[in-house]
Amino acid sequence: MSFEQSLPKSLSPSRLADFKACPRRYQHASIERISQPATYATAKGRFAHYIFEHLFLLPNEERTAQKARELVDPAIEAILTDSVRNEIAMDLAMLDRMVDETRDIITKYFEMEDPREVNAEGVELRLGVNVDDTPLFGILDRLDRDQEGNLIIVDYKTGGMPNRNYDAQTFANTELYAALCREKLGETPTKIRLLYVAHGESIERNVTDVVVKARASNAVDAWQRIKRYYEEGDFPATPSTNTCRFCAYKDLCRANGVPVPSG
Ligand code: SF4
Repeated sequence: MSFEQSLPKSLSPSRLADFKACPRRYQHASIERISQPATYATAKGRFAHYIFEHLFLLPNEERTAQKARELVDPAIEAILTDSVRNEIAMDLAMLDRMVDETRDIITKYFEMEDPREVNAEGVELRLGVNVDDTPLFGILDRLDRDQEGNLIIVDYKTGGMPNRNYDAQTFANTELYAALCREKLGETPTKIRLLYVAHGESIERNVTDVVVKARASNAVDAWQRIKRYYEEGDFPATPSTNTCRFCAYKDLCRANGVPVPSG
């Protein structure tokens, strides 16, 4: 079999995560471009990200909790489009729930940091680079400059906290962003901060050259495999309870004879 669709022009950290979880998922999402319907969680994530993005586009002194709350209505307009509402079967009760949870996120966020004091050098920063013939592209939530002059990658998380023994996977995407910064900006961030805004907690990790190089090299290897599978016309499915549980392609895989675990 060969694909009618062209190979994507670049590889992003989230698509790399798809590929590593299950190459067939990457095939459906990135080669065949079969859309993944929104869920309540993804819609809420985009909703909150819209508010933080637009809050940080304001001058420092205007980044108040009141301003953040005033961004809720524009976020409803911009993010909760008719197609999104249809996909998640949103009724008034669900809309109220999302707005209430977002207001709670805003309150918890302002207990974590004062955005008026944050020196954000980049907001929704788009970075594209070529590393060893691998086109990498990513959009950073925020890139801060701290008081010591270091760059800090900040990523908002609207889902649950990882468990206490969170592993390297928790930082995998953002460490690849650090590689993008190194290549594009000529400066490697020294730290990554993941802001779990629904919980008012953050976790941090220092960035080391060894890890940044390893993430870049891992992405280069994955891109080689993606090109090979693309030429062969088939990306292998690697079903498991964990990888399939929240995958949008369960029905498609089952129809194609993939033994997707139930649940
Ligand atoms: S349902 Fe499972 S096997 Fe199929 S694409 Fe998703 S993760 Fe892969």
